[in-house]
Amino acid sequence: MFDSDLGTDEGSVVRRRTFLLTSVSALAGAIVWSLRRPSVVQAKAENRTSREVTIVEFSDSGERLKTIHVPKVVKTEDAWRKQLSRGVFAITRQADTELAYSGEYWNLHEEGLYRCICCDNALFTSDTKFDSGTGWPSYWSPIAPENVRTTRDTSLGMVRTSVSCTECDAHLGHVFDDGPEPTGLRYCMNSASLRFVARQATAKSNK
Ligand SMILES: [Zn+2]
Repeated sequence: MFDSDLGTDEGSVVRRRTFLLTSVSALAGAIVWSLRRPSVVQAKAENRTSREVTIVEFSDSGERLKTIHVPKVVKTEDAWRKQLSRGVFAITRQADTELAYSGEYWNLHEEGLYRCICCDNALFTSDTKFDSGTGWPSYWSPIAPENVRTTRDTSLGMVRTSVSCTECDAHLGHVFDDGPEPTGLRYCMNSASLRFVARQATAKSNK
């Protein structure tokens, strides 16, 4: 009888404790959930908007296709180093500048498209390329304003406007206001940031 009563009491105490613990942890969970949920949703929304970019697609023959929303190309420094040569990495990912008259395209006069060396985004076309006499490939306009972005650059004791690829943030060069008509702009680019696609060579290509 005594043993039996004790057993019952213990059992009931244990059950009560279990109930209390379950209730407390459920309540704590609900509080944590209600506190965290809005910030998680907000963080996801911010992430989505900052990582998606709008660009205009072009075929290799220079035909304007459509405006698309794509995830921004984001890679680690190691991944970029593996993909790019040392010089191209220094220019596109660390904003270095190639020596004048040293690049592949400053004196190129063929018709075609210039894509980003890092992500293939279409950037410039031979239609707006002009001989600036600077030793860097120069254009009076990008192929589409959406495909490049500009930022204020105060490095090297100068105030310049830096130009980068919208899709992957590759540094391309700088833009100045001493270019020819119709824009009066001079997009002074590094050959190393670009990959030229000749127009006639791609006429039969699927891309
Ligand atoms: Zn790019």
